[in-house]
Amino acid sequence: MIPKELGKQYLVVFCKGCGAGFRVREKPIAEEQDSLPSAAETHRCPGCGHTAVYEAREMKVARYQKEGLGRHKKMQ
Ligand SMILES: [Zn+2]
Repeated sequence: MIPKELGKQYLVVFCKGCGAGFRVREKPIAEEQDSLPSAAETHRCPGCGHTAVYEAREMKVARYQKEGLGRHKKMQ
């Protein structure tokens, strides 16, 4: 994987297992509008290994900052 670059935006999902955000595309994205997927995709969390199907609306654009990509506020 390409290392994350501070300040750039990435397409991420929030793991359904541990709640951590992780990239679903290696490269940063420029424009939010034309980078959002239109179909569900299966992704595996690099943190906990949980594999789940993520709907297009569950994929978010997040800016990588010192704190990381963030976490879901509420874990379920
Ligand atoms: Zn996880």
